[in-house]
Amino acid sequence: MPELPDLEAIQDFILAELTGVAVTEVLVLHPIPIRLPTPGEFGDRLRGQTLQGVRRRGKFLLLDFSAGDTLAVNPMLTGRFQYGATGERRKPRTCFILRLANGHDLRYFDSKLMGKRYLVEQGSEVQIPRWEEMGPEALDPEMTLEIFIRRLRRHPGQLKNILINDTFLAGIGNAYADEILFAAGLYPYRRRVSLTPQETGALYQAMVGVLTDAKAIVAARMGEQIHLKIRDFLKIHGKGGKPCPACGGTISQITANQRITNYCRRCQQ
Ligand SMILES: [Zn+2]
Repeated sequence: MPELPDLEAIQDFILAELTGVAVTEVLVLHPIPIRLPTPGEFGDRLRGQTLQGVRRRGKFLLLDFSAGDTLAVNPMLTGRFQYGATGERRKPRTCFILRLANGHDLRYFDSKLMGKRYLVEQGSEVQIPRWEEMGPEALDPEMTLEIFIRRLRRHPGQLKNILINDTFLAGIGNAYADEILFAAGLYPYRRRVSLTPQETGALYQAMVGVLTDAKAIVAARMGEQIHLKIRDFLKIHGKGGKPCPACGGTISQITANQRITNYCRRCQQ
């Protein structure tokens, strides 16, 4: 679930509050399938290490530890992080818990166990499947309109699918793709090849504007409640059936592949 604005706020919280804190115990309750290393090795390697840094790349949160290990977690559609006192009640489907020396837990829960987690040596993130295929960061200062247009040319499909495709740009998911398309006034199922240069420019401006604004809003509200899904301020995503904030018409909702798409038929042509 977390996208660029959410992950940046989580990153800021962990950096400010947990840098230098040691992991005293690791519990693996629901191993998220597939990933490296085995649950036993995962715990053995992390126990006793101190958290030294946090990074974000695309939809991965990367925790760097003192012995040179990096824990990379991509929560996909259904995963979330949680921080709280060790005795605090666990969320359903808590997958793993890093018990910390400050009496708190850093936890990860995932209702459909869709997320991915890897423990790799710092600097060896390329071992993570598809890592190198990830496109540049959506808010990278070097992501100019010219580069945006150049990257867009490789993707002939529908606009929403392109925005959530992390080989195009990294960090945008389902919710913010809807918001960006609404801000740009573009129908989510429009094909990229049909865009005029003005529409392409509007899409770029909408992407930068929506993500920048959302980062500030989420950062101001999240704090240690890193499990929160702060989405009530969004204009269109999650608002199916409600009035469009621009024209008052009813917001449409289409569900496909477990993804909800919301848009306004009048405002988004
Ligand atoms: Zn509208």
